[in-house]
Amino acid sequence: MNRSRRRVLQAVTLAPLCDAAIAGRASAATRNAAQLRVVVVGGGYGGATAARYAAMWGRDAIDVTLVERDAAFVSCPLSNLVLAGSKSMADITVPYTALAAHGVRVIRDTAVHVDAGRRRVNLARGPSLSYDRLILSPGIDFFFDRINGLDTDRARATFLHAWHAGPQTIALRRQIEAMRDGGVFAISIPRAPYRCPPGPYERACQVAWYLKRAKPRSKVLIFDGNEDVQSEKALFTAAWNDALKGLVEYRPDHVLTDVDAATMTARFETADDVKADVLNVIPPHGAGAIARDAGVITVNDQWCEVDFLTFESLKVPRIHVLGDSIQVAPLMPKSGHMANQHGKVAAAAVIAELTGQPVNPAPVLNNACYSFVNDREAVHIASVHRYDATQKTYLPIDGSGGVSPIASEREGDYGFAWACAIWSDMLS
Ligand SMILES: Cc1cc2nc3c(=O)[nH]c(=O)nc-3n(C[C@H](O)[C@H](O)[C@H](O)COP(=O)(O)OP(=O)(O)OC[C@H]3O[C@@H](n4cnc5c(N)ncnc54)[C@H](O)[C@@H]3O)c2cc1C
Repeated sequence: MNRSRRRVLQAVTLAPLCDAAIAGRASAATRNAAQLRVVVVGGGYGGATAARYAAMWGRDAIDVTLVERDAAFVSCPLSNLVLAGSKSMADITVPYTALAAHGVRVIRDTAVHVDAGRRRVNLARGPSLSYDRLILSPGIDFFFDRINGLDTDRARATFLHAWHAGPQTIALRRQIEAMRDGGVFAISIPRAPYRCPPGPYERACQVAWYLKRAKPRSKVLIFDGNEDVQSEKALFTAAWNDALKGLVEYRPDHVLTDVDAATMTARFETADDVKADVLNVIPPHGAGAIARDAGVITVNDQWCEVDFLTFESLKVPRIHVLGDSIQVAPLMPKSGHMANQHGKVAAAAVIAELTGQPVNPAPVLNNACYSFVNDREAVHIASVHRYDATQKTYLPIDGSGGVSPIASEREGDYGFAWACAIWSDMLS
C-alpha cells in the first residue's frame, strides 16, 4: 500500500482515538438559555457540515442540535468499493462524536413532523425541539410505487438499491458474492436528475472488476433510463471497452417499469424484458420524507426550491433545505461535495440573519467527484459555480472545471484523500 492511501485509511480508523480527547473538551461546554436555536435534521454530507459550521461560526450566540436517525455516518462515496470487496464498511463509517467539541448536540432520533407555524420538530422517540431556524438535509427517499412489483418488503429485499449506504450496501455485496459464475448483474438507473450522476457507472465498473477476478464468465448490464451516459462518458466507456472488455454492456433508453421477483425479470417502457441473477434497482427518488411533511417540496412533487443565497425554502419561511433534496441550479450535481458546500453557505446565512449581519451576496461553490474504475484507479469531474444575482441561481464559471484525461492511480490517491478531507471537514 502506498503512503497516501495508508494515510486515508489511518485517518478513518484513527477517528475514535481522536474522539476520546474531543469528548473531554465537549463535556465542559455550557449551554445558554438565551441562545438562538438552530435545529438540523439529517447528519449526512449537507446536514453534518451545516451543523458543524453553524456551531463553529455561531459560537456562544447559536445553540445547534443535529437530529440523525443512524448511529454513525456511512458514506455513499466509496461505498461502491465495498460492493467490490476492496473496502469495508468500517472504511466508510465515521462517528458523530467529535461534533460535540464544537458545541453540536447530536440526538439519535427520527424527525417525524415539522410544525412550521409553532417552529417545532417532533421526534419519533424524544421530546419535540423548538427552533429559530430549521435546516433540513434529509437526502432522498424512493418512489417505490413507480415500479410495479416493488410494493412488498420481500421485493425490496430482492431488488436492492444500495443508493443510501448502510445495510443495503452489505446486502447487495452478499448478493453479488452469492451470484453464480456466468450470471448477470443488472443495474437500472432512473431518469435524471438523480443522486450522484456518475455513481451508477462507477458501480458497474466496481462490480465488473470484482466479477472479472471472481466469476469471469459473468456480465454486468447497465439499463439507463436516460438517452446516454450522464457523466464522464468517454472515461467510463474507455474502462468498459478496455480493462473490463466483454464484461459490461450499456443499454440507453431503458426506463424500468416492472420487476418480477418470481422470475427475476425486468420490464421496460419500450425495450425487451431481461432476466438477471442480481437486479440492482435504483428507483426514481425525491427529497427525503420529512421535507414533504414540512411542506417544502415545490417541484414535480419531488424537489425543494430554495433561495440560493440562504438555502431558505421558497415556500416555508425559516426552513432551509440542502443537498440532494433541492431543485438544483443548472449543471449543479446532486453530490456529497455539493451538499457540503450548501451546508457552509446555509450555515453562514442562518447566522447572519439571526444576528443581524448582511448575508454574503456572492457565494461560490465548488464540486469534485471521484469515480473508481477498479480498486486503485479513478477519474474525476470538477466544476465551480458562482451565484448570479440577475438570474438568482448558480451558474458554472466558464473554464473552471473539467474531467481527468485518463483513469490513473494518482487520481485514485486523490480520490481517497478527498474522502478523508471532506469527512474531516464535516465530522472532526
Ligand atoms: C453509490 C454512490 C456513490 C456516490 N459517490 C459520490 C462521490 O464520489 N462524490 C460525491 O460528492 N457524492 C457522491 N455520491 C452522492 C452523495 O452521497 C449525496 O449527494 C450526498 O449524500 C447528499 O447529501 P445529503 O446531506 O443531501 O444526504 P445524505 O448524505 O444522504 O444525508 C441524509 C441524512 O439524513 C438522515 N435522515 C433522513 N431523514 C431523517 C429524519 N427524518 N430524521 C433524522 N435523520 C434523517 C439520513 O439518515 C442521512 O444520514 C454518491 C452516492 C452514491 C449512492
